[in-house]
Amino acid sequence: MGKVISIFNQKGGVGKTTTAINLSSYLASMGQKVLLIDIDPQGNTTSGLGIDKDELEYSMYDVIIEYAKQEKSDIASKAIVKTVIENLYLLPSTVELAGAEIEMTFNDEREKIFKRAVGEIKDEFDYIFIDCPPSLGLLTINALTGSDSVLIPIQCEFYALEGVSQLMNTINLVKKNLNPDIKIQGVVMSMFDGRTNLSIEVVEEVKKYFKGKVYTTIIPRNIRLAEAPSHGLPIMLYDKNSTGAKSYKELAEEFLYLEGDE
Ligand code: ADP
Ligand code: MG
Repeated sequence: MGKVISIFNQKGGVGKTTTAINLSSYLASMGQKVLLIDIDPQGNTTSGLGIDKDELEYSMYDVIIEYAKQEKSDIASKAIVKTVIENLYLLPSTVELAGAEIEMTFNDEREKIFKRAVGEIKDEFDYIFIDCPPSLGLLTINALTGSDSVLIPIQCEFYALEGVSQLMNTINLVKKNLNPDIKIQGVVMSMFDGRTNLSIEVVEEVKKYFKGKVYTTIIPRNIRLAEAPSHGLPIMLYDKNSTGAKSYKELAEEFLYLEGDE
């Protein structure tokens, strides 16, 4: 059965989407069958993989609306699209999804809508990653409720740990009330600048906080990573020799090693 992993940090701009796209694409290239679910109404993962939102027949919006109405549906598999990477599939999102969050509010089982949907497609993949929106709203709570674990990207900046206690508080609330088995998959340090002492200090501080959960692989700040989405390509196709590409490949290897899957 596929493992469902939320890529979550309620702060925006910390590298969630970049990690979602690039970790997933390397895992897929290593032979894992991977589904990436975009539940951010901004749809950056969707456009970053070169998917034209206007051409979509279905998106995450339709999935949420269907499952809010009924127990079972085949809408989730119908909404999945292929990507430029073999073995990597996407459940896309559009700005409509913001409206679904409002409709969900009136559902009795509002925190578990996503869990039912993902349950229907889980068996078809090795890993399912969810690119969460930068908020603690109902979409995020749904993602966490339907996940086996959480992968937390943290930006190497002065305020890195600001908001982390709120983030952990959210995970613990979900654990207590909705999903007792949820675990921390790992913490990824992103946008590291080796020239500054600050970056080095931040990594040390985060390691102290998350004892043993921080990946050895650190993602450097690399302009090629920032450029790739505007070409609709993961870094492995945009510039596989860049430091950004090498670090995400290494992260995928470390991820699999820790999963004991190699
Ligand atoms: P989030 O999904 O958490 O909001 P993103 O992954 O979209 O964060 O990253 C925010 C911005 O920073 C984007 O413009 C992205 O291209 C850029 N970015 C992300 N990671 C890196 C990196 N390692 N080096 C340089 N730019 C990056
Ligand atoms: Mg994002």
